[in-house]
Amino acid sequence: MSTPFDRAAACPSCGAPITFRFAGAMAQVCKHCKFVVARTDRDLRAIGRVADLVEIPTPLQVGATGRWGNEPFVVDGRVQLDRAGAPGAPWQEIFIAFPSSGRWTWVAFAQGRWYATSEAPLPLNGLPPWTSLRPGGRVHLEGHGVFTVVEVGRRRVISAEGEMPYVAPPGVVTGFVDIAGPRGEFGTLDYGDGRTIPPKLYLGRQFDPAVMRLDTGAPVEVPSAQVTAVACPNCGGNLPLAAPGTAERIVCRYCGTASDLSNGALTALGQVPRPPVAPYVPLGAEGQLRGMRVLCIGFVIRGCTVEGERYRWREYLLYGGPSVGYLWLMEEDGAWQLVTPLSPGEVQPMGLVATYKGQTYTLKQGVQAEVEYVIGEFYWKVEIGESVQATEYQGPGGKISVEQAPTEVSVSFCAPLPGKELAAAFNLPPPPKAGIGGGEGTSSGTVVVIVVIVIVVILLVALSDCGGSGGGGVIFVPTGGSPSFGGGK
Ligand SMILES: [Zn+2]
Ligand SMILES: [Zn+2]
Repeated sequence: MSTPFDRAAACPSCGAPITFRFAGAMAQVCKHCKFVVARTDRDLRAIGRVADLVEIPTPLQVGATGRWGNEPFVVDGRVQLDRAGAPGAPWQEIFIAFPSSGRWTWVAFAQGRWYATSEAPLPLNGLPPWTSLRPGGRVHLEGHGVFTVVEVGRRRVISAEGEMPYVAPPGVVTGFVDIAGPRGEFGTLDYGDGRTIPPKLYLGRQFDPAVMRLDTGAPVEVPSAQVTAVACPNCGGNLPLAAPGTAERIVCRYCGTASDLSNGALTALGQVPRPPVAPYVPLGAEGQLRGMRVLCIGFVIRGCTVEGERYRWREYLLYGGPSVGYLWLMEEDGAWQLVTPLSPGEVQPMGLVATYKGQTYTLKQGVQAEVEYVIGEFYWKVEIGESVQATEYQGPGGKISVEQAPTEVSVSFCAPLPGKELAAAFNLPPPPKAGIGGGEGTSSGTVVVIVVIVIVVILLVALSDCGGSGGGGVIFVPTGGSPSFGGGK
């Protein structure tokens, strides 16, 4: 058989003609039989059939052309993946080819951020064992630098279209680790399946989609998600969807029925208790906050127990459209904070301090934060009782919050937000001074003191255990549950 499959060949599964357009593409999905057809140096092989594509909006439709800076590109394919049975919506990666240079990149959009990654040489010493990496920890990739581990998980290809470079056979579960660097670097360690699928390393960074111009003139900033609405399966209430592409769990604001959203339809899971207080910012309220147009879409009450005493605070999930993504408002004892997600790579926790943008933040407290009440629309499968290890560092301009779940770490910046400014942003009467929860526990100052003492003791024990090596991580105690703040995709 002759080698050049950039010309027409027959699909090994159905016989339909197959043409590879881009030299760097090693696989493509047959339009007729939906099999992924991979090219080897000798022949074409059908490596598995993909399911129908899931509806995930993107401005980068397969076949679209444009310029990235000055270089022409073509959207050559896309792959949709999920977490192989673990909670979380499917996501997609778009294969962008640059025909004039032969190079290519994967592009992904998650919670308001764009990432581009390309295959990079494996470190000389290989990838560290998958089981040795923990979210929030650090990983040194020889020749590439030191990164923060953001997520450790399993994934599988569920669907795809067009052409792509190497791709795992559909349905085969592979291990992966997402990493982030201090200046927007982003990457994925792909561990393959440990047998026939080889490990790969993809490195790249967050980027501003304004560098891309489509030949149609359509903007790349905004995936074409329409604001739609769904009906509560229990009470029939009309529930507007702010982010249909990323919403996963809806708790009905009228009757408290929790439902999962998939393919535009809700499946009821059951009733959850109503929050004991009404949210100060109503669900559905639209505001203009620090130059961003935001919609209040979720309300959560979380709590922690310190020395037998329960402390509670309230959080509001805001959605600012695809380019802003998700933000949080947090209120405790009448004090408000605006919580913005950071890339975990931007913050280096080192024992009692953390550094961010060259500034030092000092450990303030670490608690086990549990969800007590929830209502609204959420981008993860939020559950009552889910718990994360939440650690706060105080420093210039506010606090750094690190939230540790078993498979994922998320980091955010909490800046004080005057009640007056919040009220003006949402056109509301001034918020109550003592907080809307009222009369719970002592002042948070006491908690801080107790918690810091406890943490210092734990740290001293930990340091004496491991001799202070490892160079990172505070006291990450994995527990059950999903991430809360921003972060993951
Ligand atoms: Zn075929
Ligand atoms: Zn309902």
